[in-house]
Amino acid sequence: MKYNEEAYLKAENVITERYLRATTEYERRISETNERYPEIRRINDKISGAVSEIIDVLDRKPEDVSARIEIIGKANLDAQNKRRNLLVSFGLPADYLDIHYTCEKCKDTGYVEGIRCECFEELILKYSAEEISKDCTIALHDFDDFKLSYYTGDYHRIMTAVFKMCKNYAENFSQKADSLLLIGNTGLGKTLLSSAIAKAVLLQGYSVVFDSISIVLSKIENDRFGRTKENTLGLITSADLVILDDLGSEFKSSFNESAIYDIINSRLNKELPTIISTNYTFEELKEKYNGRIISRIDHQFTHLNFCGQDVRALKKSEK
Ligand SMILES: [Zn+2]
Repeated sequence: MKYNEEAYLKAENVITERYLRATTEYERRISETNERYPEIRRINDKISGAVSEIIDVLDRKPEDVSARIEIIGKANLDAQNKRRNLLVSFGLPADYLDIHYTCEKCKDTGYVEGIRCECFEELILKYSAEEISKDCTIALHDFDDFKLSYYTGDYHRIMTAVFKMCKNYAENFSQKADSLLLIGNTGLGKTLLSSAIAKAVLLQGYSVVFDSISIVLSKIENDRFGRTKENTLGLITSADLVILDDLGSEFKSSFNESAIYDIINSRLNKELPTIISTNYTFEELKEKYNGRIISRIDHQFTHLNFCGQDVRALKKSEK
């Protein structure tokens, strides 16, 4: 997968900052304990001495090099255990003088045995998704912006259930979440609830792509014909959550239809969730799209039916 360069640099900066934060805090704690507890300073000196001893042994390469290193290693381990006990006896946590990395796997270097660590990959994906949503014309909302009071009678009952489902979906989001089809007339809050889900899931640190389907498709088309250096389709098939707003509003072409199929199908194959909203009824979608797209949306998406009076019109009439 080709990453957006800006997203890569941002991710690299975060990894470097994490490393610096962890090691600076470690050094601060070493000098703090050196000052306050002479018993600990003696051990701290011994532990840092062990490192130079090992370097020295490796440098001189005596015959019994591995035996010597084993002895130093053992003494060092004993010193560390003793230090832990001392820390506890002074009322500090036993791991107070360990380096606390954000990612223990790569120790905040971003690499494990020369291969990019998962934490680095996650950040690149996250910033790539942000890049792609940066020029998104849809504003991000909170669930509180959704007003159930605009829905009355049966509509209120149904929309309360829809609202709770969306909120619950966002709060308990995982890569294993269901794919959703938000279906209903224009002005019933589909985009608002989609954007609230997008925001809540983004804030949990997941990568989210959220935009109107026509914009996403035109980006894919621009990439395909070499007009950009990005790989929108690659990003969309691997983001934790993709939300495509307003299915059916896009220009009808065989390129768009096959791109829509590629997005839906590749994400289902990877078992990653997708949310699609549409102003069309399911019957109308059946007329617009080929059977391969329809059968996936029909069988593998949970359908949420939005109902009520046009909330935008109600809001306008209030003014
Ligand atoms: Zn890592």
